[in-house]
Amino acid sequence: MAEKPRIAFFDFACCEGCQLTVLGLGEPLLKLLERVEVVTWREAMSERSDDFDIAFVEGSITRDSDIPRLRRIREQAKVLVALGTCATLGGPHVSANNCDRGELLRLVYGGEGAQFEAGEVRPLSAVVQVDAFIHGCPINGDEFLTVANHLLLGKAYHPPSRPVCHECKLNQYECVLDRGQICLGPVTRGGCDAICTSRGSQCFGCRGLVDDPNLNAAREVLAEHGYTVSDIIGMFDIYSLRSPAAAEARETARQDRGAIEKGAEPWRSR
Ligand code: SF4
Ligand code: SF4
Ligand code: SF4
Repeated sequence: MAEKPRIAFFDFACCEGCQLTVLGLGEPLLKLLERVEVVTWREAMSERSDDFDIAFVEGSITRDSDIPRLRRIREQAKVLVALGTCATLGGPHVSANNCDRGELLRLVYGGEGAQFEAGEVRPLSAVVQVDAFIHGCPINGDEFLTVANHLLLGKAYHPPSRPVCHECKLNQYECVLDRGQICLGPVTRGGCDAICTSRGSQCFGCRGLVDDPNLNAAREVLAEHGYTVSDIIGMFDIYSLRSPAAAEARETARQDRGAIEKGAEPWRSR
């Protein structure tokens, strides 16, 4: 890499909130900018260059016409970082993959829908190799800085694999399940310091499922509060629709529904 690594930001289908999170970092961002040269960042500057070392790429791939641009970024970048859950998992609009595309286009654009290209919603890794993942909708600014520091030191970054419950309990936040709200914290990847539950909101799973989520333990926690996996299945699909673990959860919910219809308590039988 050049003496000062050259950094570029790019975006595909998304709300650009993760780039905004980086822009809003304040003093820590100014310190980082002493160590790098930002050469492209549409949200922050008008200059641009195709000569960069590290690419932070936000957004998901929703159109085949996006693919050549992403591949060009990949060819140029020594390191490509997926920035935010749209880029790492597909983002909230990944749930559109559950719907008929033509019907969705008609719903949103009426008779004009047919002119728009809208394909399967995919994370970046479905198209190119990704070197580091920063999950979150939006990302956690501190984690962005941690990843940037790792890259500048030439170290690999591995996102946390502990669930949000771990951070929630460490902070001694009140469990929202006790207040009658359903929460995905038991199976969602931590690293956000349980920011939503700190403010009394449930976790919607925006950082995706933890590696190897313990669905049986989650069912027990839910069952203790009178819920089943079926009750939360739609929440899994908001961010983790493409994940094999989410497919497993759907299958678990299907089995539970069958067992409940027969009068069993499925969470007690495994
Ligand atoms: S991950 Fe969320 S905040 Fe970030 S760009 Fe996508 S929709 Fe916006
Ligand atoms: S279920 Fe939700 S609110 Fe309860 S401890 Fe886990 S993350 Fe916190
Ligand atoms: S608590 Fe859940 S929804 Fe909120 S930021 Fe963390 S992972 Fe995302």
